[in-house]
Formats: sequence, C-alpha cells, structure tokens
Amino acid sequence: MKNIGIVLAAGNSTRMGGTTKKQYRLLLGHPVLFYSLMAFEQSYVSDIVVVCSEGEEEFVRTEIVEKYDFRKVRAVIAGAKERSGSSFLGIKEAIGIVGRFGVNVLIHDAARPLVNPLLINSIIAELESGQRAVVPAVTPADTIRLEGDEGVVTFEREKIRLVQTPQGFEAGLICDAYEKLRSPVTDDAEAVMKYDGSVQIKFVEGDRRNFKLTYPTDFELAECMVKSAEM
Ligand code: C5P
Repeated sequence: MKNIGIVLAAGNSTRMGGTTKKQYRLLLGHPVLFYSLMAFEQSYVSDIVVVCSEGEEEFVRTEIVEKYDFRKVRAVIAGAKERSGSSFLGIKEAIGIVGRFGVNVLIHDAARPLVNPLLINSIIAELESGQRAVVPAVTPADTIRLEGDEGVVTFEREKIRLVQTPQGFEAGLICDAYEKLRSPVTDDAEAVMKYDGSVQIKFVEGDRRNFKLTYPTDFELAECMVKSAEM
C-alpha cells in the first residue's frame, strides 16, 4: 500500500492578518510550512504533494523544498479559492503520480506545524488495517454551548470532537466524494460524509499540540512548543 501526504498551503490567512501569509511566516527561523513537511518526511508516507497559491509554486520549490532538501516532495501545485478545491486538486495530483488503487492520501493543513510523525503514522496504521476514512480529534477543555434561534443548548463535552488534520482516506473514496461535492466543506471527512453516509469515520486520538495557527497569539504558543520540543 502507498501512503501519500498532501499538504495544503493555499490559504490567504485572512483571520491571522499581517503582510506575510501564516504558512510562510517564520517560526523560530523556519517558515511554518517547513515544519509540516519535516514531519511528513520523517513519517511513513512515500510521497508528498504541496498545494500553494497560484504564483507561489516557484517560491515554495526553491525556498522551502530545495533549501531544506525535502526529498519526498513530488509536486508543488496551485490550489483553489476554497480549501475543498485545494484538497481536490491535491488528491487528483497524487492519483496522477501513484494511481488510485492501493493508495491512501493523508490531507494536512500547513497551518498545523506541530504535527508529529507519530500521529501521521498512527493514521497510516488505521488505513492499512482497512479503515477508509481516519480523522484525528481531541475533546474540548471548555464547555460548548450553541446559541440558536430556539435558545441556548449545552453539549455533552465527552461527545464533542475537535477535528484535526492529517485526515487519511482511501484515495478512490475521497476523490469520488469531491467529484460529487457541490458546495464547499471545511474539512475532508465532511466530503465523505456527504457522499456516502455509510462510510465509517474512524476517530483516532489527536494531539493537543497539533492546533491550527489561526490568530496572532497562536504564534507565541507555537514558538514555546517548538522550543520545548527542541530541549
Ligand atoms: O483557512 P483555514 O485555516 O481553515 O485553512 C486550513 C489550511 O488549508 C491552511 O493550511 C490553508 O493554507 C489551506 N487552504 C488551502 N486553500 C484554500 C484555503 C485554505 O490550501 N483555498
């Protein structure tokens, strides 16, 4: 079986603000994208596809892939306006390189630089044992309430899943799901859920350090975590 990493870095960082997009901002001297690629290089994936914004391919190739000598990266391609469009392009590229049979794809947000190779490998292990859709998640520390039109509802915390990436899928399944998808989704598992409700989504334990850099203060937290991991 082949396992291919797809790293999504084609976002605009609207919520983060600033002049440099978050995926290229330096985190202790290295661009944010570097960290995810390093984790995938150190994992059991055999190949990596990087998806960036149109016009940034050359920058990513020379300033990140070649500079850090990431040898598993097979392609750097332009993404789409929505994350789901970028995912679909990455999946098609991966299938173009290695085919769709006996192939799994692991789709990851470049904005989660603290992903660990062990988490990536645990998702691969589930896929190789026959799971078709594998999603890492953690439970929330805070109470979660929904303020709806009918009033306020409190959820049972133990049943809430804060979903992370990388999410792993049988390549053919996720490709077909995106082929049929008619409206954008915010994560890849939802494309599968909309396509075929009978597919079991297997949750695996995520990692609290694997959070998504979204707001400016997240950088301070990520810097502390990288520093403590290096000690
Ligand atoms: O916008 P959000 O933070 O949810 O994006 C998650 C990941 O998806 C980021 O790494 C971002 O670069 C990527 N993305 C993308 N193409 C888009 C939007 C987001 O590759 N059109």
